[in-house]
This record gives sequence, C-alpha cells and structure tokens, in this order.
Amino acid sequence: MNDAPCPCGSGGAYAACCGRWHDGPLHLQAPDAEALMRSRYSAYVRDDLAYLRATWAPETCPDDLAPNPPGLRWLGLEVRRHTVLDADHATVEFVARSKLGGRAQRLHETSRFERRGGLWLYVDGVLR
Ligand SMILES: [Zn+2]
Repeated sequence: MNDAPCPCGSGGAYAACCGRWHDGPLHLQAPDAEALMRSRYSAYVRDDLAYLRATWAPETCPDDLAPNPPGLRWLGLEVRRHTVLDADHATVEFVARSKLGGRAQRLHETSRFERRGGLWLYVDGVLR
C-alpha cells in the first residue's frame, strides 16, 4: 500500500510523498504550501478527515466535514501555480478531478495557505 503511487500524482510512492505528512515523525510538517496542498488532496482521496481538519485554519474549518460520498472516485490533481507571498503566506492554484455516479466533476480553485507556529494551514479558496 505504501509503495503504491501517491494519489497526488507526483510520481513518487505514497510513503515517500504525502504519506510522510499524514502520519509518522513528520506528521503535519509539509514544508511548503504546495506540499500541503498535495497532501490534503491525498487525504481527500484516502478519506483522512483527521488530517484535513488538522491542516485547516480553525476559523474556516467546517464543523461537519463529511467523508466522500459512496461511489466518488478521485481522478487526479493538477497543480497549476504555487505563489509564495512571504515566508508565511502562499497561494496554490489547482484543478482536482473526480467522478461521481458517472458524472465528471472538476474543482478549479486558488487556495490561500498560511504558516502558523511553523505549520502550514489551508485558510480558504476562491473558485476559478
Ligand atoms: Zn503526494
């Protein structure tokens, strides 16, 4: 399982990619906003709600974070742009594709990330 390709599409194995931030000694230590973005996509694929909550700014994290609906398939992530604003702020533009009940879905968002206490967090996003 951990030798499987990472869901984020980096080309690396899960354990050597997003898996490092999902648990183990480097838990939550994604080094930049793009790495955090990728790890959050992989967490969606794996239904890792605890990781999503832990990497979401508390003031914007929904109370009712829901697991994937039955039958949802995540198809892939494309990171379009990673913009570093300063040491603790960055944005990542991405497209995430999924399929539910035979219907293709596409999420195109520019997300804002902020580093607090040394850890990157997802703050919010603007749909493109
Ligand atoms: Zn990954």
